[in-house]
Amino acid sequence: MPRTTAPSPLTEFAARVLAWFDDHGRKDLPWQVKDPYRVWVSEIMLQQTQVQTVIPYYERFLSRFPDVTALADAPVDDVLHHWSGLGYYARARNLHKAAVIVRDEFAGVFPDRFEDVEALPGIGRSTAGAILALSKNQRHPILDGNVKRVLARHDAIDGWPGKTAVAKALWELADTHTPVERVDDYTQAMMDLGATLCTRTKPRCFDCPVASDCTAHAAGTIDAYPGKKPKKEKPLKQTTMLLAVADGAVYLERRPPSGIWGGLWSFPEVSDVDEWCARVGGESSEREQWRTLRHSFSHYDLDIEPLVLMLDAVPAEAHDRDDALWYRLDDTPPGGLAAPVSFLIETLRNTDHVANR
Ligand code: SF4
Repeated sequence: MPRTTAPSPLTEFAARVLAWFDDHGRKDLPWQVKDPYRVWVSEIMLQQTQVQTVIPYYERFLSRFPDVTALADAPVDDVLHHWSGLGYYARARNLHKAAVIVRDEFAGVFPDRFEDVEALPGIGRSTAGAILALSKNQRHPILDGNVKRVLARHDAIDGWPGKTAVAKALWELADTHTPVERVDDYTQAMMDLGATLCTRTKPRCFDCPVASDCTAHAAGTIDAYPGKKPKKEKPLKQTTMLLAVADGAVYLERRPPSGIWGGLWSFPEVSDVDEWCARVGGESSEREQWRTLRHSFSHYDLDIEPLVLMLDAVPAEAHDRDDALWYRLDDTPPGGLAAPVSFLIETLRNTDHVANR
């Protein structure tokens, strides 16, 4: 539940932020419309991705899924396909799940009660607040990464925001500063301020509307805020991906719905290539080991060793399965592809002696 203190209609902090927004804020982003569906899609895309990267993805996504019902009615593969390249695919799967709930339980109308929005898959307190503030001008504080940085510096809140006590202090501040009037502009302004002035490195304090009482700025301790997450060594894992090629096609399997790259199409990961050939009934005449690719997840690094296996003909395996197929390299991908898989497919396409087999 959001806190509901009773601030003055326009806090002094908010007045300065809004005056800055009037002169410098971003007002022409494609999702700056009073439509909760559009704002929701943009907020989810922007969670891990920069504005400039998001814009073309957002425009393609909206032209394919113009409203929540179109998204709910679409196969999840199609949604993942339109997400390919943005990463963090759980976001796309949750968008689809939430769209189905909105279609089935809210008659296709995006809810406007905070509790209903926050209960949708993939939507936390800050995102729910942002959607309703930006599209409905409802008063809810937000605390995304940009806002955390501004508030932690302005009020010198020590500690890593992932800790409950630190998060609580930041939420209280966010709530105190959020005005009653012009919540939509204020919300956008705080996100802009964090993204364009109070940046992670080299913040532009001389242009900042709240510099006059910013504690970290005055003390010269900006780099200390927000507090860093205690460091843990990331484990390194290794896998062999088998790129089995025959007749201009490559063998792909759909990954299980949960876990990394859930629901995306990928190459099989094998420990014994001969055993795999015997199982699918494939005869291989040539193999090529490609350079190792390192892919970083938030909790571990993965070294992918691509092994290209050239088969004399497409074996019978996978002709009657909906979780495996022989994908022709000159066709549209069957659904979403993880970034390294997409990279390897592109490399296969450009490797003549492989692509033409
Ligand atoms: S004065 Fe500098 S550190 Fe403080 S909020 Fe503004 S940009 Fe951030």
